[in-house]
Amino acid sequence: MSLPSFLTMYSELVASPSVSCLDPSWDTSNKAVIDKLAGWFESLGFSVQVNELAAQRGKFNMLASYCPHGVTEGGLLLAGHTDTVPWDEGRWTRDPFKLTEADGRLYGLGSADMKGFFAFVLEALRQQDLGQLTKPIRVLATADEETSMAGARELSKFSDLKPDYAIIGEPTNMAPVIMHKGHTTECVKIIGRSGHSSNPAAGLNAIDVMHEVIGELIKVRQTMAEKYHHGGFDVPYPTMNFGHIHGGDAANRICACCELHLDTRPLPGMRLDDFYGLLHGALQPLQARMPGVIEIRSMHEPIPGYACPSDSAIVKLAEELTGHSATPANYCTEAPFVQDLGCETIIMGPGSINQAHQPDEFITLAEIAPSQQQLNQIIRRVCQA
Ligand SMILES: [Zn+2]
Repeated sequence: MSLPSFLTMYSELVASPSVSCLDPSWDTSNKAVIDKLAGWFESLGFSVQVNELAAQRGKFNMLASYCPHGVTEGGLLLAGHTDTVPWDEGRWTRDPFKLTEADGRLYGLGSADMKGFFAFVLEALRQQDLGQLTKPIRVLATADEETSMAGARELSKFSDLKPDYAIIGEPTNMAPVIMHKGHTTECVKIIGRSGHSSNPAAGLNAIDVMHEVIGELIKVRQTMAEKYHHGGFDVPYPTMNFGHIHGGDAANRICACCELHLDTRPLPGMRLDDFYGLLHGALQPLQARMPGVIEIRSMHEPIPGYACPSDSAIVKLAEELTGHSATPANYCTEAPFVQDLGCETIIMGPGSINQAHQPDEFITLAEIAPSQQQLNQIIRRVCQA
């Protein structure tokens, strides 16, 4: 099989549904996308490994590798996720699964975030003389980035994956992004005892307990802000936001149950263990005083913060080739997990984050040729050294 044209690959990726969603009625396997990618990379002479996720059956990660002269260490990893978010029914003015060219744009679900990136990579590789490469070039395609990042959490299953550098092709308009905060969402649930409001001592008021809990959480928030600082961010400290609270039903009943949802954004370099140590340490005295009353659980797998040193060779190369300065981002990516492979990792790809997760998602035709050229040059500069 020979590699189809850039636009054919782009269209086929968009046409293969790969929605990941916590709502099972939306959730789709990414196998169709993985199968297409595997075939295309094999046609370029890459060896391909596909792993079904242990945490999520029916979802797959793929690693395509071209290792010149059997060298497996070093080189460049280009990474991306194969899944998309669901589409807003009724808000798309076009078929989300049909790549449509109009107004100087290519519209389609995943056109920017980020199935299209794989078409860019394949095209850049087609134009490369692979025989000239001296270091490995690898392409990683993950599952379930939009929900749990389950795919990125299983990268250690690929043996011998030790690149020097990684680029995650999320849409950044080809500007290198080198840091973002992490993200956790916790639920604190207070289980009190109801009773008639005329005798508060007859029950345990969950709202009263929650008041104490929130007091402790605000202290944790202050401790984090005093202890951690990163000047690369507009908000240079870790944040904690109380986003949802609900408790009780009637004014004349002792409130038996109260639930709080809080979002935290740890800084890069702040270990998740440190955050959870602060959180649980703060609530522990209350829990000891009121056994079985206060429950804390994570509402999703936490994502750590991430930063790449700004003087890293891959940052300098990306800045040189694209003319953009490195910046922070205010969204999370798979970068902390990719970086755990031991490689300096940046986030940089065609398309704009403003179009991600939006109806009528698109990339512009004008950015196609320059982005391809920049990817091509990066591959050559890293792998042909
Ligand atoms: Zn994305």
